[in-house]
Amino acid sequence: MTTISNRLQHILATIQSAQAMSEYQQPVKLLAVSKAQPISAIREAYTAGQILFGENYLQEALDKQAALTDLPIEWHFIGPIQSNKTQPIAQHFAWVHSVDRLKIAQRLNEARPIDAAPLQVCIQVNISNENSKSGVLPQDLELLATAIASLPRLKLRGLMAIPVPTLDTNQQQAQFKQVRQCYDALLAKGFALDTLSIGMSDDYLAAIAQGATIVRIGSALFGARSASVTNN
Ligand SMILES: *Cc1c(COP(=O)(O)O)cnc(C)c1O
Repeated sequence: MTTISNRLQHILATIQSAQAMSEYQQPVKLLAVSKAQPISAIREAYTAGQILFGENYLQEALDKQAALTDLPIEWHFIGPIQSNKTQPIAQHFAWVHSVDRLKIAQRLNEARPIDAAPLQVCIQVNISNENSKSGVLPQDLELLATAIASLPRLKLRGLMAIPVPTLDTNQQQAQFKQVRQCYDALLAKGFALDTLSIGMSDDYLAAIAQGATIVRIGSALFGARSASVTNN
C-alpha cells in the first residue's frame, strides 16, 4: 500500500530533479493542500516531515487548526476570499495566496494582529479570464501590487495562479510562462518579490520549469479527495 509518507518522498524527489533542470535553479517549497482530507492525513504528512499546509475553506481550516494545535504547522489560505471572512483569515494563517482585490487586502491588513508577523500574501492573477472569476487581470496587476505593497501589516511576496487544467505539457508551459511574464514585469518595476505559487498535482513539473517557488499539491500527496469531509 502506498502511504502518504511514500508519496511525499516521491514528490520531494521529483521536485528536486525538476528544480535541478530548471533554468531558474530556484528553491521550490511544497505546500500540501489538505482540503477535504481528514485530520489524520495531515498528522501523517506532518510526521513524515511536511510543515506547510494549504486550505481553501475557512471553516474547515479552522476546525482542523483547532484539532492540530500541538503541531507547529505553517498554514496557508489558498481559496476564494469573501470580505466577511477576512478577520479570521488574517488571524489564523501565515500566508494568503488568493488576494485579488484591494478591498480584501485592506481588510486583511486592518485585521492582522499587531503581535503577529505581517501576513505574507500573493496576488492571484487571472491568465485565462473567460474560465475563472478569481484573480486580477494582468493589465490591472501593477496598480493592485502598488497598493498592497504600501499596506504595513501585509508583506507582498509574489503571484499565484490557477491556469486552465490541461494534461498537454506544452499548454501547461505556455500558461505558466504568462504568469512568469507578469512576475518578471513586476520585478522589473522594482517590486521585491520572491514567490511564484504555481503548479498542482498534474502540472507541477511544468510550473517548476517556469520558475515556481511554491507548488500546491493535494491529490498526488493525499490521494483523491472525498466528496464530503470527515474530520477524524
Ligand atoms: C485543490 C487546490 C490545489 C491542489 O490541487 P491538486 O490537483 O489536488 O493537487 C492547489 N491549489 C488550489 C488553489 C486548490 O484549490
